[in-house]
Amino acid sequence: MKHLIDPMDLSKEELDQIITLAEDIIAHREKYQDSQRYKKLSTLFYEPSTRTRLSFTSAMMELGGNVLGFSDAKSSSVSKGETVQDTVRVVGCFADVIAMRHHIEGAQLYASEVSRVPIINAGDGSHSHPTQTLTDLLTIKRELGHIDGITIGFCGDLKFGRTVHSLIKALSRFKDIKVVLIAPDELKLPDYIKQDVCDKLGISYKEVQTMEEVMPELDVLYMTRVQQERFLDQDEFDRVKDSFVLDCAKMALAKEKMAVLHPLPRVNEILTEVDADPRAAYFRQVENGKFVRMALITKLLEWKDDPSHGMPEGEEPVYDATLRCTNAKCICNNEHAPHKFRRSDNGTLRCWYCDSKIK
Ligand code: ASP
Repeated sequence: MKHLIDPMDLSKEELDQIITLAEDIIAHREKYQDSQRYKKLSTLFYEPSTRTRLSFTSAMMELGGNVLGFSDAKSSSVSKGETVQDTVRVVGCFADVIAMRHHIEGAQLYASEVSRVPIINAGDGSHSHPTQTLTDLLTIKRELGHIDGITIGFCGDLKFGRTVHSLIKALSRFKDIKVVLIAPDELKLPDYIKQDVCDKLGISYKEVQTMEEVMPELDVLYMTRVQQERFLDQDEFDRVKDSFVLDCAKMALAKEKMAVLHPLPRVNEILTEVDADPRAAYFRQVENGKFVRMALITKLLEWKDDPSHGMPEGEEPVYDATLRCTNAKCICNNEHAPHKFRRSDNGTLRCWYCDSKIK
């Protein structure tokens, strides 16, 4: 059994297998339409979602399987105080695979520690969103024909944007990736991604102040929404909410073969005038999400080995009862999850569940 909690849970070979299978599903849909008959996917969504939940649902339906679950935790035993570990123990009696979204960071990793069926992380707080990453990789591949060698600009909310964090991690599995970070000071990429991913795994990155100065060099522009729900301070949100807006004038500066991606929903960071531009790939990206989730479900039900959530290379686990994770949104501060840590080769101590730096 294998879970998908973090994009780095997938080796390069496994990423390639999923993308190749998704492409085959697109080319021969009839071949797969009954392939998961009698199998059940459970969707446990503790946080709002349109695309991800419906995409999982339609993916399982297209494979001939069934779907059960909840889209609002208030209608489940969670409202009676049930823990995520108990919920997955129970749901594992009914379903063959579970897709879970949670506002608490590390919730799915904690759940996977007791689950008897594969857990798919469908988004945990501001932390990770690996199935959006699979969607993004398939979209880049289909739009440009390759992933190696691209220059990709991430624009908007790089601090809370879990899709950005996950995609940068997964891109470290590819060759010669250049990352350009376009964000206001308040929404810059967290240090742990810069240090533990970019610096350590050799992704070159630069930070710039305007979109205009980098538009001509980008192969992919990854736009994101400023996520109001993650801000603790409304004034701070108001200050940054309209920081970067993509319009046709900026598109005119870009390469002829460039792809604009966005995990959606958009608010006002891409004007609707851009939608008609052939380089606007964000609605095609949504459909790719269904195909890649069909491939993922198929693979997770097929893979027997259990490399589980591995320790990143060069790091070691740390158990020290005197240490505490200070992230209020981490599972270890919300349920009775243990405070567990890992130390990286440069000596940095991070929470096992949410990756926060421990001071
Ligand atoms: N749909 C994406 C997510 O779930 C992006 C967003 O909500 O802005 O993270």
